[in-house]
Amino acid sequence: MNVQNGDEWQYSLRPRHLREYIGQKKVKDNLDIFIKAAMSRGDALDHVLFYGPPGLGKTTLAGIIANELGVNFRVTSGPAINHAGDLAALLTNLGEKDVLFIDEIHRLSRNVEEVLYSAMEDFALDIVIGKGPSARSIRLDLAPFTLIGATTKAGSLAGPLRDRFGVISRLEYYQPEDLVLIVKRAAEILQISIEEKGAWEIARRSRGTPRIANRLLKRVRDFAQITGDGIITDEIADASLQRLEVDRMGLDHTDRRMLETMVMKFGGGPVGLDTLAAATSEERDTIEDVYEPYLLQLGFINRTPKGRVVTRAGYEHMNIPYPEA
Ligand code: ATP
Repeated sequence: MNVQNGDEWQYSLRPRHLREYIGQKKVKDNLDIFIKAAMSRGDALDHVLFYGPPGLGKTTLAGIIANELGVNFRVTSGPAINHAGDLAALLTNLGEKDVLFIDEIHRLSRNVEEVLYSAMEDFALDIVIGKGPSARSIRLDLAPFTLIGATTKAGSLAGPLRDRFGVISRLEYYQPEDLVLIVKRAAEILQISIEEKGAWEIARRSRGTPRIANRLLKRVRDFAQITGDGIITDEIADASLQRLEVDRMGLDHTDRRMLETMVMKFGGGPVGLDTLAAATSEERDTIEDVYEPYLLQLGFINRTPKGRVVTRAGYEHMNIPYPEA
């Protein structure tokens, strides 16, 4: 989820059904089958893990799954579960086949994670009562449930946890043609007038991410209202996005600073993540989860064993001559 402060309005835009969820066709088609199969057997759906960069709709999709299954949807996150007891309280309150969504599941502490293992595998909780020699373990049965985990870092998930998910799906950045549909859908719900070309301009510059597309749509609307006649055209979208420092490839001020620092301070790399974080005053995690994946996807940087390097395409985008060997 990772919704930033002030972004709560986006909740109202969340699709509730699989058929309203745009893009991610492979993931969606598979889920459709798994959901129907589980329902026809009368079973809880197998545990599902979604991974991919923030804002791609992992939480949205988890909510849709619960809705399609016709069960309750409980939401929490790795950092919010401090003790094994917190998790036990959540699990014992779940009804038959309910969905428990744990965002940032890679941030669960080790002891909480261990309680989760038997809960996921056997629908049971092993709880130790008392301390020292008189301590004893009791087993508590749980209603069968579906755990949906979301993470930006599938690699940081402990092997035993990852192995307990029956379905593991990677969400990809959206293609502009899908983002156009997302922008138009949001515009309709928010009653914003937008022309087809205006929607394309926003879609192309939203770094493949619905959350960003919706955010830019709202900002561009402000410009359209004050500097135009309220209708978002391609000219208005372009002028507004330039003022917001979002360039034609969707890079923002921080992306460009990242590239510029790598080129100007480190000769284009290789640069280690920690060094880059220190040089740009950005958090290492944010660089790794948000900035780097998009720059990699565009082919503006490469990952090498020694660190990140800026590619020729990256230099060209920044209008800096590529150093020929
Ligand atoms: P994540 O959990 O991956 O970080 P998220 O599910 O929290 O992402 P949101 O912040 O809810 O993503 O996404 C922002 C908005 O984008 C949502 O309110 C929803 O309206 C919209 N959205 C996301 N994915 C889709 C989609 N595939 N189709 C339609 N709308 C979408």
